[in-house]
Amino acid sequence: DDRRTLEFNVFPNGDDGKAVIIRDITRVRQLEQTRSDFAGNVSHELKTPITVIKGYAETLGDMTDSLPAPVNKAIQQIAGQADRMQDIVEDLLWLNRLENTRLIDPTPLNVGALLNSVAQDAAELATALGKSITPQVEADDAWLLNGSHKEVMTAVRNLTVNAVRYSSDGASVTLSWKVTESHALLTVADTGPGIPRRDLPRLTERFYRVDQGRARETGGTGLGLAIVKHVMDRHGGRLTIKSRVGSGSRFICQFPLSRVKPAAMPAIVKAD
Ligand code: ADP
Repeated sequence: DDRRTLEFNVFPNGDDGKAVIIRDITRVRQLEQTRSDFAGNVSHELKTPITVIKGYAETLGDMTDSLPAPVNKAIQQIAGQADRMQDIVEDLLWLNRLENTRLIDPTPLNVGALLNSVAQDAAELATALGKSITPQVEADDAWLLNGSHKEVMTAVRNLTVNAVRYSSDGASVTLSWKVTESHALLTVADTGPGIPRRDLPRLTERFYRVDQGRARETGGTGLGLAIVKHVMDRHGGRLTIKSRVGSGSRFICQFPLSRVKPAAMPAIVKAD
């Protein structure tokens, strides 16, 4: 089969001319698909062994009274690391689904309500981490976002959890939803440590971390921003990251205006 995938790029050229660059990206797409299938298969195969390890760790965990302290400590480690593996595998599987399916059934979302619910969970996380951070919400409720509730919620949650996890005690975190004549912007901003300029372009790569060692301790999967980027792509939007070391970061999710509907309209809105 000799089907090819071509990529067209059109540029203005001269006063009324146009230049077109055509690239054959068949091979690139095939390699991407192979990588995606491989990641999906490995993750799927790991699900059962991890469940079994977790199950046995739990059984042993119920026997703490009869076991010596070092053994109990080892069991706790096994259970904790198995949880971590499970988180990574689940995120990988979800990422795989995002890569290989199209967005289905977008619905008009009340973004303000969604941001408030994420902010509340994030405040609890902050308390659990011993930080006094109360995420604030500023939302324009006149506009609904036509999108996938689960995906947009996960994207906002990933950004907000990062803002809380990487910022120190007393930092401010703001979740906002703002629609103007030219933009629909959902932004998560923090006054945390900021991200060095050289790391910004690679931040949405899988497992890319600014500080490998420290990031692992904070307990994330390294896939959070990769997921956000995919969710934005699927909604026809774009993620922009602005950050300065020492003053904080802004993660700006820009949606096309075609995805925004006035809240006064009936709740049933036809998908794009
Ligand atoms: P992780 O699970 O490591 O948080 P992410 O993909 O969500 O994975 O984020 C990638 C990296 O980007 C993080 O490890 C961290 O170094 C950096 N990062 C993300 N959000 C922030 C933030 N709000 N402030 C500072 N650094 C951040």
